[in-house]
Amino acid sequence: MEKNYYEIDQNIYRRFDQKNDIFCRYLWDNSLKTYQNNFADDMLMNIKEDKEGYTHFDYAFSKASWTVYNRFPFAFSWEGDISFEEDWYGYKLREQKYQIKDLLEFTTKVKKVARFYGASLVGITKLDEKWIYQRAAKRSVQKFLGSYPIHFPENIDKVIVMAIEMDPQGLFTTPALPACAATGLGYSKMAFTISCLGEFIRNLGYQAIQCGNDTALSIPLAIDAGLGALGRNGLLITPEYGSGVRICKVFTDLPLVLDKPNFNFISKLSNFCKRCYQCAEVCETKAISFKPEPDFKGETISNNPGVKKYYINPEKCFEFWVENTSDCSKCITICPFSNTQDFILSNEFWNEK
Ligand code: SF4
Ligand code: SF4
Repeated sequence: MEKNYYEIDQNIYRRFDQKNDIFCRYLWDNSLKTYQNNFADDMLMNIKEDKEGYTHFDYAFSKASWTVYNRFPFAFSWEGDISFEEDWYGYKLREQKYQIKDLLEFTTKVKKVARFYGASLVGITKLDEKWIYQRAAKRSVQKFLGSYPIHFPENIDKVIVMAIEMDPQGLFTTPALPACAATGLGYSKMAFTISCLGEFIRNLGYQAIQCGNDTALSIPLAIDAGLGALGRNGLLITPEYGSGVRICKVFTDLPLVLDKPNFNFISKLSNFCKRCYQCAEVCETKAISFKPEPDFKGETISNNPGVKKYYINPEKCFEFWVENTSDCSKCITICPFSNTQDFILSNEFWNEK
């Protein structure tokens, strides 16, 4: 198990082109049922009907939770914000490299810094090129703007991977809007955490590339960094929070001690998912595999075939999101490894003190 915690068919595997991510595809691929559907009209209809969990109040709450993620472009900067250099003391720090005396002690402190800024879990792994997108996509809210190859600066050789817990009580209301607020807040916390950690690393005189879902596949990097394992639901499952996390990462040339994958948990989950179909059963659009065994074949061009795993169908998943006028966390909440209880109605969420 230790040697082959994932199996790859080299004849099939290709680095992923982000253009095929469903969140880009729905903007350019007119073969999709969800082509250019941005939820807005159905949202207004729901508001008019004052449907529980989908009221004007709920949408206002949910949309606002994305504020830092959506409106703070610096979070995804590769270089830091140089416009501050002349009037901010930080740039002086960057003229010299911090001298590391004890690598293990230093790594422990860097992880503490990441947790201080907001990470719930932190792991470190080497940069594995196969998980880096072959091409990164550019998009605005309403348009796909093309894609470009990714070239990292020299010496960047590792990645600090962080998982951020989402609000479990909000998630219980899925697929209603308070659960979407838990997702949005998770993304905003990601943006906050990576931008602080990136600046910290630059202040030590090293390079940092701050990433959310962009630039590389977060789940295999998180598994390599020891944060958990891949579930039938197509998501990272951590021993601490199940799938109730968002993943972000900072690529760097900072000297750090690498973590190992959590082999025991990978093996435990692999056996568990073979017998447990709860996520597949709860999914409205049957987007999650019922296959008894994982395989190498993707379902759509939005998958990344060639890795032995259970493939979800992102087209079907996104169809439910569009119908729901927001995202969905049912396959997160139902998983026995997640820190969640029973689903609750949004009124119960609002009435909870
Ligand atoms: S997010 Fe919802 S629709 Fe998508 S796979 Fe999970 S349960 Fe299905
Ligand atoms: S719900 Fe069950 S099958 Fe699905 S990811 Fe969790 S443990 Fe695996």
